[in-house]
Amino acid sequence: MNRVAIVTGGTRGIGEAISVALKELGCKVAANYGGNDEKARAFTDRTGIPAFRWDVGDHQACLDGCASVADQLGPVDIVVNNAGITRDGVLSKMSFEDWNEVMRINLGGCFNMAKATFGGMRGRGWGRIVNIGSINGQAGQYGQVNYAAAKSGIHGFTKALAQEGAKYGVTVNAIAPGYIDTDMVAAVPAAVLEKIVAKIPVGRLGYAEEIARGVAFFCNDDAGFVTGSTLSINGGQHMY
Ligand code: NDP
Repeated sequence: MNRVAIVTGGTRGIGEAISVALKELGCKVAANYGGNDEKARAFTDRTGIPAFRWDVGDHQACLDGCASVADQLGPVDIVVNNAGITRDGVLSKMSFEDWNEVMRINLGGCFNMAKATFGGMRGRGWGRIVNIGSINGQAGQYGQVNYAAAKSGIHGFTKALAQEGAKYGVTVNAIAPGYIDTDMVAAVPAAVLEKIVAKIPVGRLGYAEEIARGVAFFCNDDAGFVTGSTLSINGGQHMY
């Protein structure tokens, strides 16, 4: 596929696996990241994929960042909205800042990136947007009203934008990962993680590459009839 792709949060964890999978498909990939320059440099050394730093929660930064990718690599055909953070806590202990920051980055980032790229995709008659939601946006999770609300919002955002893109060749889909072995999950206390894994029918955490394969499927030319859909990749932990 000779396409230009941006993967937000594309320099480590699930995002790194997605960046590599899209490169393997033949895309020219730009991996965005939020601030960890050291990990971004190591990623570029490992993969040869250029990294671009901007905050996806910042509207103007997304417009400028996407314009700079387009200048260097060409018009953007594929966006994978993968960047995400957690700021967990039960409601009584969650600050407004923790609520707002998760909404700003996890959900606002999808809006900002779509505003920067959707019009171009529609005008050229081909595009792919893949949004990374979460099992916790589908099922809810104790101590995560901010994260669950943002991820649930991503699933609604996906279905609404899919309707706007459909007749212009732009598909919009989501993936809802279960628990995947990345830095984000490494931050979960071991005792809690043990209980989580016990509830996964497949009996293990998922691998980032398993999410990336789902993204690659949605991005393919022959997935043009798949839009507004959510693919759950969760080891059977949540089924509906
Ligand atoms: P990681 O914490 O391992 O990586 C997060 C990535 O997002 C990093 O590249 C980080 O950049 C980037 N990022 C964070 N904030 C911003 C920002 N404001 N602007 C741009 N980039 C930013 O996360 P995972 O790989 O675990 O998760 C990836 C996605 O998958 C997230 O949306 C997450 O919610 C979702 N998910 C993950 C699950 C899991 O079990 N791991 C389960 C379900 C969903 P930097 O390196 O600069 O900090």
